[in-house]
Amino acid sequence: MDKLPLKGSLKDAQLEVVEEAGIVHQDGIILEIGRFKDLCAKYSSSNFAIQLIESDVVALPGFVDPHTHLCWAGSRANDYSLRLQGVSYAEIASQGGGIWDTVTKTRMASDKELGELLISRVSRQLKNGITTCEVKSGYALNPEGESRLLEIIGSVNRECPIDLVSTCLAAHIKPKDFEGSQEAYLQMLIEELLPKVKKSKLSRRIDIFVDEGAFGVPEAENYLLAAKRLGFDLVVHGEQFTSGGASLAVRVGAKSVDHLEMIATEAIALLAASEVVAVALPGASIGLGCAFAPARKLLDAGCCLAIGSDWNPGSAPMGDLLVQTAILGAFEKLSMAEQLSAITFRAAHALNLADRGILKKGYLADFIAFPGRNYKEILYQQGMLKPNLIWKRGRQVS
Ligand SMILES: [Zn+2]
Repeated sequence: MDKLPLKGSLKDAQLEVVEEAGIVHQDGIILEIGRFKDLCAKYSSSNFAIQLIESDVVALPGFVDPHTHLCWAGSRANDYSLRLQGVSYAEIASQGGGIWDTVTKTRMASDKELGELLISRVSRQLKNGITTCEVKSGYALNPEGESRLLEIIGSVNRECPIDLVSTCLAAHIKPKDFEGSQEAYLQMLIEELLPKVKKSKLSRRIDIFVDEGAFGVPEAENYLLAAKRLGFDLVVHGEQFTSGGASLAVRVGAKSVDHLEMIATEAIALLAASEVVAVALPGASIGLGCAFAPARKLLDAGCCLAIGSDWNPGSAPMGDLLVQTAILGAFEKLSMAEQLSAITFRAAHALNLADRGILKKGYLADFIAFPGRNYKEILYQQGMLKPNLIWKRGRQVS
C-alpha cells in the first residue's frame, strides 16, 4: 500500500507487489522490506532470527476496522425476524425491541460478562486479519455507564494482542429514562461525562448520531464544538437516513463522517474538498436491506474512502469486514486497490493513526498473509479466503 495517495480513485496497477519478499522487523516496527535473499545477505551478520514461510502466501498490512459497536450484551435476532416480516422500527421498539433492548441488557450485564463478550468478538476480528479495531461505547447512555463501557474496552485492549481504539458514543440516542430535551441530554454529557473521559483518558474520540430519531444538526454542532474545545477528535454518524451530517462534519473539522447512504452530490463535493474521511458501512446496508453509500462517486469526487464493518446487534450483525468490502466493491465497482486501501491506511487515517496500514519502513509490524501467490484471489473470493498467518507488532499471533 506504499506510495498511494490518501484521497481519490486508484487503479490496481498502482499497487506495488514485491515478489519473493521478506520483511525485517524489530521491536514491533518494520525496518526494511525487500527481496528475501537480499535481506538475508544484508542481515546475516546481525542477530536476526530468520523465519522462512515455505508455502506461497501474499502478505498485506493488517486490516483496520474504523467503525464498530462491539461492546454490548444480548441479541436482536427477534428484531431482525420482525423486520424481515415488514414490521416497522417504531413498532419493534414499542414491543420492547430496538436499541433500548440492547441498552437494558448492556446496563444489566456485569463487567466480566461484557469483557468476555468483547474478547470473543475482537478475537474473531483478529482471526479475520483485523489488527486494529475501533470500538464505540453507546449502549449505556448515562455518564456512569458510558465510562464503564470505555473502561471495559480499555482493559480488553490491554489484555488482547489486537489494538482497540475506543470512541465515546454517549450521544447515540437520548435515553428513554432521561427527562428533558435532546439539547438538555447533550448539555448534561458536556458537563458530567466529557471532562471525566478526558481526565481519565478513557477515549480520545467523541462520536454523535446525527439523524432523524437521534440528534439534530444544531444541537450536535454545539456538542461537537464543546468536545473539540476539550481536545477530542470528532466523528459523526451521518447521512444514513437524512442529510446534514456531512456538512456538519466538515464545519467542525471531524476526522470522519460515517454511513453516507443518503449523501447528495453537493455534500460529496464538500467532503472531497475537506480533510474529513468518508467511511462507508456496507454491513448496515446489508443488515437493513438498504442502498449502499455511493462509494464510487465519493472516490471519483476525490474523497478519502474508508470502509468499516459497523458490527452491532441492531443493523449490522454480520461483522465480517472483508466480506462486506468485497460486496460493496462488486456493487460500487471499486478497484481492488481502492477496496484494500479503504481497510488499511485510509481506515487508519480515519482513526488519526499514521503508523499503520502500509508495509513500509517505520510502520508497525502488523501484517497478515493469505494463502496463494496472487493478491487478487483475496477479493475475488469475496472475503471467504481468510489469512492463515497474522503478526501484530512483530509477534506472530496466528
Ligand atoms: Zn455505527
